[in-house]
Formats: sequence, structure tokens, C-alpha cells
Amino acid sequence: MKRSRTHRFETLAVHAGHGVDAATGAVAPPIHLSTTFERAADGSYPHGYLYSRNDNPNRNGLEAALAALEGGSSGAAFASGLAAVTAIFQGLQPGDHVVAPKDIYHGTANVLKHLFAKWQVGATFVDMTRLDDVKRAVRAHTRIVWIETPSNPLLQCVDIAAMAGVAHHAGARAVADNTFASPALQRPLDLGCDMVMHATTKYLGGRSDVLGGAVITRADDEAFAQVRTAQLFGGAVPSPFDCWLVMRSLPTLPYRMRAHCANARKVATFLREHPKVSAVHYPGLEDNAFHALAKKQMSDFGGMLSFEVKGGKDAAMTVAAQVEVFTRATSLGGVESLIEHRASIEGPESKTPQGLLRVSVGLEHADDLIDDLAQALDHCA
Ligand SMILES: *Cc1c(COP(=O)(O)O)cnc(C)c1O
Repeated sequence: MKRSRTHRFETLAVHAGHGVDAATGAVAPPIHLSTTFERAADGSYPHGYLYSRNDNPNRNGLEAALAALEGGSSGAAFASGLAAVTAIFQGLQPGDHVVAPKDIYHGTANVLKHLFAKWQVGATFVDMTRLDDVKRAVRAHTRIVWIETPSNPLLQCVDIAAMAGVAHHAGARAVADNTFASPALQRPLDLGCDMVMHATTKYLGGRSDVLGGAVITRADDEAFAQVRTAQLFGGAVPSPFDCWLVMRSLPTLPYRMRAHCANARKVATFLREHPKVSAVHYPGLEDNAFHALAKKQMSDFGGMLSFEVKGGKDAAMTVAAQVEVFTRATSLGGVESLIEHRASIEGPESKTPQGLLRVSVGLEHADDLIDDLAQALDHCA
């Protein structure tokens, strides 16, 4: 497909990053497992491929597709979401500083605290729902303002355009982890961010069967060149098959997201009325503190929600143990609904309420999900 920029999201999701295979006429992309590529008689590489860590047709296709979906100029795919996170921070120097949300994905916090702190990259974690706190946290050496919205597991929303403004005013870059929303619902580059990061493990993969990450950039600038260097020299690249799996899921992304959102809205509405539930965190609920902001910067409210059960940890554990349609497991974004007691997986440093359960609402029938939660909640005292 040519001139992809002029097409709408659904069309890009089907076509961006690949076309009919020139060698065979195959309509679906083949998987190129070869690690190495032949030189021509003059020593050049006539097809542009040299070695699979540098470039691979499946990876290049995925990178182009993700760049198109986020409205960016280029993408770089990685072996996991955290490999993508790590590549972004590898572009920093000792003495550089990152401002990040307090409720950042715990794995990203681990990268900053346990991998980069010892290389003198500083990080300040702030409540990003408070603009003044973010402004105060910015320093002369702040290079990145990291945004994650909606957040995990309280589904708090951060004003992306405002954060990008704070970052740019300080001469820093705004980078958004867009994993929870996916580009089907939220496009941070359009709202002023410089880079977007994804765990393609989640909605982009969509099947809970492939681990991957990506960085998409607004411009092919020096910071993105650093990400490419980390990819090429660091080598945390995804396999051709993993790229193919993510690519295979992209055409259904917009349609899956519509169903995830519709189901999540129904489940959230049910939970809010339930006598054993003390709180529901879902920006799609009209009385949610982040509803107006989410409405402004997202096209829909997503498939993730969390709720708090009266009776704290014991009650939450009872619900997690009694569900039958939901699977009790970590992660999100797959076709199957998942539920988990978040404080347990986050470990002793977690500030997540003990009665909280996080839910990734899948593509089952919403009424079966609701019936399942109803019977599980009936087991609570
Ligand atoms: C899962 C996740 C990551 C990390 O991705 P991995 O593929 O598990 O390394 C980063 N950010 C968010 C918001 C995630 O949900």
C-alpha cells in the first residue's frame, strides 16, 4: 500500500508495514528466519539486508506499521517492553535526570532504580495528576518527562499535552508509555510527545502469546538515533516470528479495542453498583475524577479497570480464587479476561490498596464476565 499517511487508522492497521511479497506474490507476510543475507558480486547488499540484528524484513515491517499507527516517523522494535524502556534510558548520560509518575509501571521503576541509578541517572517520582508537583520536580539536567496514562493499577489519567509542555519548557523530552490505551484510543505524538513506548506484549500482540516492545518517534532525531544504537549494539531485538505474531494482530486492533472498551464499561457499571465493592477505578465512568481528561485525550476509555473489595486483602483473594471465566494471572490486553491481586505481584514496596483487584477485560460476552464476578463476590463474607 502506497501513500499510507493519507489512510485512516483501520486501513493502516491492515496494510501498513507490508505489501504483497515481491518474490512469491504471497498476500500474507512470510517469516524471514535467515540471520544473514547474501552480498552481490560487488560486495554490496542489493536487498538492503545484511544481518538480522541490524535489520530483518519482519522487524522492519512491524516497525513501519507501528510508526504509522502512532503517527510517527520511525519505530524500533524490541524483545520486550522493558527492553524498549531500557533502550530509551540508554541514550542518557551520567548526571541526567528523569521525572516519572509515582504510579509508573513497576518494571519501568525497577529499570530506573536498579539499572540506571548506579550509572548516575537520577529519577524523581511525582504525582503527575498535579501539574505544580511536576514543574517543581524538573531540574536543569532533566532530559525526559515520562508519562504513563491511564496508569496502573488505579487508572489515573495524566494530561499528556500539559506534560509535554512542561517537558519542552525545561528543554526535556516527553516520552509516553502508551501500552494501556494503544494507538487505537490515544496518540501521544499528536498531543506533543516526542516518543511513544509500547509493551507490544499487551494490546498490540493481543493474544498473550508474544513478548515485545517498541519505541516510536515523532522525528528521526538524535534521541531516536540513540535508541537505534541501543537496539543495534545492545541487541535486544525481537525474533522474526515474534514480529510476525504482533503484525498478525494489528489488523484487528481497532475492532478488539472497541469490544474491550464496551465490555469494560459494562463490567465497571456492574461493579459500581455492587454492595461488596467500595471503589471502581475506570475513567469511562462519568463520576470518575479523570473522566473529562480521558474524554479529551482518548477516543474511548480502554479495557483496563480495577476495583476495591470491602474486606481488604482476604476478600480480594477470595474473589480472585473463585472466578471461573476470568483467569487469575498477571498481564493484560489479551482476548481472555484476567484478574489479579496487584499488591502481591508488585511486592513489598507496593502502595497499591490490599483490597484492589486489577482486571483486563477481554472479549468474552460481557454478561458472562458480570455473572462470574457476581458469583465470586458472593463468596466474600
Ligand atoms: C507490561 C508493561 C510493560 C513492560 O512490558 P514487558 O513486555 O513485560 O517487558 C511496560 N509498561 C506497561 C504499562 C506495561 O503494562
